[in-house]
Amino acid sequence: MKLNLISNGNTNAKTIKNDEETYILYLSPYNLNDTGKNVCPFATNGCAKACLNSAGRGKFSNVQKARRRKTNLFFQDPQKFTQDLAIDLAKINNKALKENKTIFVRLNGTSDINFEKLLNRYLNINFAQFVGLKFYDYTKDKNKALEYSTNEKREKYRITYSRSENDSERDIQNLLTNGVNVAIVFAKNLPGEYLGFPVINGDLTDLRFNDQLGVIIGLKAKGEGKKDTSGFVIQYQ
Ligand code: SF4
Repeated sequence: MKLNLISNGNTNAKTIKNDEETYILYLSPYNLNDTGKNVCPFATNGCAKACLNSAGRGKFSNVQKARRRKTNLFFQDPQKFTQDLAIDLAKINNKALKENKTIFVRLNGTSDINFEKLLNRYLNINFAQFVGLKFYDYTKDKNKALEYSTNEKREKYRITYSRSENDSERDIQNLLTNGVNVAIVFAKNLPGEYLGFPVINGDLTDLRFNDQLGVIIGLKAKGEGKKDTSGFVIQYQ
């Protein structure tokens, strides 16, 4: 199946461990594109530093070039980008219907955009129209996370809040008690619980769709994250 923007989750480290068939969209994170605009409006110094170094600022492999080209299109011709996105989703949806299964889609592999609003704005469609698909994402946008935390919305699009050094403990507790799970990066071993909430191992799978509610998704610091001094990574012993 040839797709314009979205990749098969089997081809990359983030989603390869998922038990269910998954597709993912990768853009160039933060401001790594030719327009200088930012696909991660809520990024912090801590997360951007870890992310940009792993994304290899200055290194231009074919994969990075392709991500940059997609990101340029997103900013320079959002209507065309949205049309291409909808065509990809329709193809994956047809596959799901033909094979009589649900396929999972993560559109913010390395971005933090409300793609459902984009589909709505340019094409007047929403995720519900892709009946064979379920969507999941991480975000640093508290309002978006809370907006999609109702039982009805969460059935189609499951959002996990991604904690940064700018969040207080109270912010995290508020989200967790309001139906939003929170991903937290820990320096070494994952604690059994944190701030009074159970911690599950988020490195076993990326597929957050089936996580029980009211849990912290513990991730171990990787790559540049191991050197973090911003507070983005929790130094929990
Ligand atoms: S918001 Fe996410 S994708 Fe964007 S820079 Fe931070 S960690 Fe990377």
